[in-house]
Amino acid sequence: MTTRERAAGDPGVVVVGAGYAGLTTASRLADAGVDVVVLEAGDRVGGRVVSELTGSGVRVDHGGQWIGPTQRRFHALAARFGCATFPTWETGRHVEVWHDGTAVDYAGAAPDDGPGIAEYERVTALLDELASRVDLDRPWRTPRFEEFDARSAEEFFRAQTSDEDALVRLALAIQGVWCAEPREISLFHVLFYLASAGGYEQLMETRGCAQDARFTDGADAVARAMAAALGDRVRLGDPVRSIRQTADGVEVTTGRTVVRAARVVVAVPPATLERITFDPALPADRLGWARHSPMGRVAKVHAVYDTPFWRAHGRSGIATLYGESPVGVVFDNSPEDASRGVLVAFVYGDRLDRWAALDDAARREAVVSALSEVAGAEAKEPVEYLEKIWPHEGWTVGGYECFVKPGGWTAHGRDGWRAPAGRVHWAGTETASVWNGYIDGAISSGERAAGEVISALDAVEQRG
Ligand SMILES: Cc1cc2nc3c(=O)[nH]c(=O)nc-3n(C[C@H](O)[C@H](O)[C@H](O)COP(=O)(O)OP(=O)(O)OC[C@H]3O[C@@H](n4cnc5c(N)ncnc54)[C@H](O)[C@@H]3O)c2cc1C
Repeated sequence: MTTRERAAGDPGVVVVGAGYAGLTTASRLADAGVDVVVLEAGDRVGGRVVSELTGSGVRVDHGGQWIGPTQRRFHALAARFGCATFPTWETGRHVEVWHDGTAVDYAGAAPDDGPGIAEYERVTALLDELASRVDLDRPWRTPRFEEFDARSAEEFFRAQTSDEDALVRLALAIQGVWCAEPREISLFHVLFYLASAGGYEQLMETRGCAQDARFTDGADAVARAMAAALGDRVRLGDPVRSIRQTADGVEVTTGRTVVRAARVVVAVPPATLERITFDPALPADRLGWARHSPMGRVAKVHAVYDTPFWRAHGRSGIATLYGESPVGVVFDNSPEDASRGVLVAFVYGDRLDRWAALDDAARREAVVSALSEVAGAEAKEPVEYLEKIWPHEGWTVGGYECFVKPGGWTAHGRDGWRAPAGRVHWAGTETASVWNGYIDGAISSGERAAGEVISALDAVEQRG
């Protein structure tokens, strides 16, 4: 069945999921003249990127929020839709709270001194060196691929150093980037991800790196604009339940309807794939890949104040906490005009599991007392307090992205990562070679998937 031979009313292609990956796929297909429908389970577009205008009039990003200068695809889309960005606030002294509770101020990108720093820097430099050999398009061709994939990041760190302070720093780095613990994640996946972003510094730092800038109207502004341009091709509140491949196309069944098309692009996180029934069943490697790719565990908590009072005390609001607090990292998330003060606290990995099990009052108390450690006693009394606990989000089940468990790349990566299964194609940030795990990666995955589909449709038309 070609796009031109399909039954009246049937689209050429169905896209499942209206995150950045699905929206990019659909936009590319629509631009190429392909009739496309996007089926989104939730009641909004943007997926893991969602902002809210709070009661006190500030816009906060509960999910993805930052854009870095080398995230060129995201920048291009933002420019196309006129979505403005502004630099992340980082003026003033930052603070580290060590695991013995000592709070130490520092300036610049990273502290020069502190427990475990020298060993931490040595091990992260080694990670960068190993990552420089990763083959991003065919990761399984990387030297020592199986050896690295067989080990967890924790096994690697412990083999490299016995400095417990350095190990604490390395653990927080893993939590901060993957929202997981070093014992849970494949060393090879860490290397792949580093290579995909352009190195360790790109992932960790602010200016010139992944945390460089924020969006004036929220990081979902671009997604909202893309959806507006796609118009009624985007159908919200319509979860896909099953996908059946027939002799000449696909049948995509939701709670409301059956949509027949030539091809389908599934742009949902691997960790949610098994909520869809596939007929024929998913290839064993795609299924195995999904089972080896759990979601990270993260919450973002915003505390809103009348003013960014910490700035007047020479503080940046940027903090790293290595102790018992549930909070790992804090940033100043105030609006560009500083009309309010906003601190955002990240809770992730095992800390998230413990913190999320507390009652509402205890969770709030734990976070505001961490904020008061880094910004002063005034932080104890926010005018607004907003939590987003991502593992509780039904259609996403966590964040920031799915990471790969030890052995997952070796067992299932080659055929399970993103190879199409007949007429079923895969998009989503987890399938990206560049900026895997980020919004930019979601966008490039949509471009790749749209390209695959256009080639397949063209091939059918040429044969016809
Ligand atoms: C707390 C947090 C902070 C982050 N910070 C950043 C950041 O600062 N910068 C950055 O670049 N990235 C960040 N990320 C990561 C970034 O948000 C993701 O990489 C990106 O949004 C993924 O886009 P996607 O389209 O691949 O997937 P998603 O956004 O997850 O989209 C998938 C869509 O599919 C839908 N869906 C699922 N199942 C079905 C179904 N059965 N039927 C129909 N629809 C379905 C979902 O509802 C969702 O809308 C962060 C993520 C989180 C959670």
